[in-house]
Formats: sequence, C-alpha cells, structure tokens
Amino acid sequence: MHVSLDEARSSFAALLASRLAAHELAPLAACYGRILAQDLSALVSHPSATDSALDGVACREADTLQASPDTPARLRLIGESRAGAAFPGAVSTGEAVRIYTGAPLPDGADAICPVEQLRDAGEGHTELLRPASPRDVRHAGSDFRAGEVVLRAGQLLTPQRVALAAALGHARLPVRPRLRVGLLSTGDEVVEPGERLQEGQVYNSNLYGLLGLVQQSGHETLMLGSAPDSPRALSQALERAGGADLLLTSGGVSMGRYDLVRDLLIEDGEVAFWKVRMRPGGPALCGSWRGTPLFGLPGNPVSALVVFEVLVRPALTGLPTRTVRLRAGENFRALPDKTAFWRGVLREGAVVEYPKQASSVLRSLSESDVLVIVPEGQPVRAGEEVEVMLS
Ligand code: AMP
Ligand code: MG
Repeated sequence: MHVSLDEARSSFAALLASRLAAHELAPLAACYGRILAQDLSALVSHPSATDSALDGVACREADTLQASPDTPARLRLIGESRAGAAFPGAVSTGEAVRIYTGAPLPDGADAICPVEQLRDAGEGHTELLRPASPRDVRHAGSDFRAGEVVLRAGQLLTPQRVALAAALGHARLPVRPRLRVGLLSTGDEVVEPGERLQEGQVYNSNLYGLLGLVQQSGHETLMLGSAPDSPRALSQALERAGGADLLLTSGGVSMGRYDLVRDLLIEDGEVAFWKVRMRPGGPALCGSWRGTPLFGLPGNPVSALVVFEVLVRPALTGLPTRTVRLRAGENFRALPDKTAFWRGVLREGAVVEYPKQASSVLRSLSESDVLVIVPEGQPVRAGEEVEVMLS
C-alpha cells in the first residue's frame, strides 16, 4: 500500500530517533556543517553598552536641530570615547565628545553626527553641518539581549551561524551526532565514471548526488560502491558497512524481477513502508536490515535526489522542508493520488514548468530553480500561488 508523505516521514524519523537523540559538545572551530542540537540563547547582550554606529561626535540632538552648512551648530569638544575606553564624564548642553564606531555613548548625549558632517571651528570647538541623529545610536541589546533564543535546534551550522554563536558568547556548541551513512548503488548496468561505458550501461550519478546531500545534512558518509543485482552481492556490499547508523541505497526497489532490495529486508530485516504517494519517487522503500535502518531510493536519478530532499533530509536534520509560495506562470497539472514535485523554472517573477519531467532526466534538476509542489488532485491554475521548495 502506498503511504502518504507524512506517514513516510514520521515512519523514517522513528527509525532514526534513538540514533539522533544524543548530543555532543563541539568547539566552535569544529562546528561547520554540523546540526545544532538545542536552542541557543545569548549569554550577553549586543551591543553590550549603548554605543555609536559610526565615527563622529556625540552630543544632544536638541542643540543641533537647526544645523546646516550655512547655520552650523557650534559645540565645545570636551573629550573622546573610544571602543574599549569610555568617556568618563557627561555631555551637557552646548558640548560634544568625539566618538568612534562601537564606542560607548557618554551620559547626557543622545545623538551622533558623523565626521563627514563636521568642520573644525578652532579653540576646541567643532561645527555640525547637519543635525545629529539618534538613529546612529545603537542601544544596548538592540541586536540581541542576554537570555534571548537566537539560534534554533536543527539549524545547519553555516559559517555565518557559527560566527553568530561566537557573538552570543558560546565557545562550544551542542551538536547532533554525526550519523555514519553507508551509500550503496545497485544495478548490473551501473558503471563508475571514468570507466569505459558499454552500450546499455549508465554511469553511477546517484552516488555522487547522495554523497554531497548527506554531507550537507551534517552527517558522515561511508562509500559502499556499487553492487550488481544479486541477493548475495547486495548483502555482501551492505556487510561492508559494519557500524553504519543508516544504509542508503539507490535502485532495485521497483516492481521488476531484479529489484531485490525489498527481498533483502523481507528476509533479513523489516519493511516499514514501500511506495509513497509522490512523483517522482513512488517506489521508495524504508525499513531495517539486520537492525540497521535502511532507506531504499529509486534508481532513476531525479527520483533518488527528490526523494532525498522530500523524505530523507528532513529526518537527518530534524527540520521540515522549507518552502515558499510563488505565482504560477502557467497551469500545473495534479496527479489523482500522488503529490507531484515538478521541476520549475523562474521566469518574470513567476514559476513555469521545466519542459522535461521524466525522472530519468537528471539535467532537469540542474537546469531548474525549484520543485513545484502540486498536492494530490489539486491542479494549480496560472496566476494562482503555488508552494515550491528550492531544488
Ligand atoms: P531501478 O530503480 O534499479 O529500476 O533503476 C531505474 C533506472 O535508474 C534505470 O534506468 C537505471 O539504469 C537507473 N539507475 C539506477 N541506478 C543508477 C545510478 N546509481 N546512477 C544513475 N542511474 C541509475
Ligand atoms: Mg536496477
């Protein structure tokens, strides 16, 4: 029986749950590409004190409201505030303090005038050619406040997020364990790139898509290569993955006589589900083999990579698929009993269909911009909004 997308997702997530439950603390420098395991709150506020957004002078806005090049506001300079060395006194009316980016705002001041709008007036005075602005004051905690949750469990730790975690004050981060994911492609006809291709054979592209996708999801890969379509060869190849947390196979899950991966689970494991109500990717298989979770992706290259995005990645990251809504530039057909993931191309602010939708046409993923999600039995008309995921 075909299962729904939700059933498939939750069934697979349940198989992985115990392996993803633990977390470890990793130093910042080792966190790139890992998945954050817990929400992260700020240990301090930023800015830690109210400070200046630019170089100039700090003063009272009220003293400068009429300032212009013809009628400059003349203020007496009483000192300076540098980043890391605050001005000790206070600013009174008619006074100004030289200030630099990131330097604390002195007491009594409420506005900043940038250095480009200042003219030296001699005798310890400066002239402002325009009013000082409170907008160039950065208030303590305006970026984030101590205790505020700033990063969320499940987020991929990009360099930008690792930098943010450092700004929050964390030296080590709680990260999800890296699963060891064994990758195996199946098929008598599958040949490694670089080797000579005989008629009827095909280069192993799936392995190289899946390898990168698993790594992008924050996990480790174990290359098991390619196995021919024989039960013995398949189980021998999977045995090489001793200690893997997940086996990811491609091919051999359809209805054909040589589609043997499901038999392997029936004989030596369990089938959680086989066949999902989606296209491409209908024959996806999930279960466990000798106690290790196994996800069997279809062999057709578009199916393999789309099923990864729709069903496998959310389980590996713990995050739902991110989608946005776009205007449909043309009609998108629906399938009566399957969610369709059509490859779509952005054109003039709308999304249109990539011309070749067969699941063997791998270049459709390279040449399209998004996957257009058309729910079962609900076609989308030109001009309506449609949900898409970035492909
Ligand atoms: P299967 O799911 O094994 O029936 O394979 C479906 C289609 O995908 C066939 O045309 C296969 O030749 C092709 N295919 C299977 N595995 C791969 C692979 N690793 N790389 C590229 N194409 C593949
Ligand atoms: Mg095959």
